[in-house]
Amino acid sequence: PTDLNSLADEYLKIAYHGLRAKDKSFNCELITEFEPTLEPVEVAPQEIGRVLLNLYNNAFYAVVQRQYLAEDSYQPMVQVQTKRLANYIEIRVSDNGTGIPDSVKAKIFQPFFTTKPTGEGTGLGLSLSYDIITKGHGGTLTVESAEGQGTTFVIQLPI
Ligand code: ADP
Ligand code: MG
Repeated sequence: PTDLNSLADEYLKIAYHGLRAKDKSFNCELITEFEPTLEPVEVAPQEIGRVLLNLYNNAFYAVVQRQYLAEDSYQPMVQVQTKRLANYIEIRVSDNGTGIPDSVKAKIFQPFFTTKPTGEGTGLGLSLSYDIITKGHGGTLTVESAEGQGTTFVIQLPI
């Protein structure tokens, strides 16, 4: 059984520190809101970790992209939240980055779809994540996004 709060917290730090190792000037506010009484659940921790790492890396990329375009007062933020609902656990990964245009949103879960330059993205992160959550764990992975405002990915894992 896995403590999803610890897993979500650990991978957030791994992703952030990985980025900062490459660019020391990068600063991003990290917000965590963990359900205090989340019971450990039967999942494949390395696979869920991989999904989280994909979502975090995408989120950090999006805030960096927005930072290039944005006004000086822009404060990058990446948030992870866990919630215990009646028969599932929800993990939400949010950023206040570039957001996803509707024309792009329809394709992001397709294998090899990327808007990133060659060498920066394979386009496999979300398709793999989708399979891990849906086929591997019987859950759902969905996205809410507003262009120019930010994005939230929502994982729901049945208990
Ligand atoms: P990759 O990161 O290699 O491009 P992914 O499958 O992880 O592949 O993501 C596919 C595409 O979805 C990205 O290229 C980007 O256009 C879009 N995307 C994913 N996450 C975000 C996000 N948090 N903010 C904005 N766009 C995103
Ligand atoms: Mg990715």
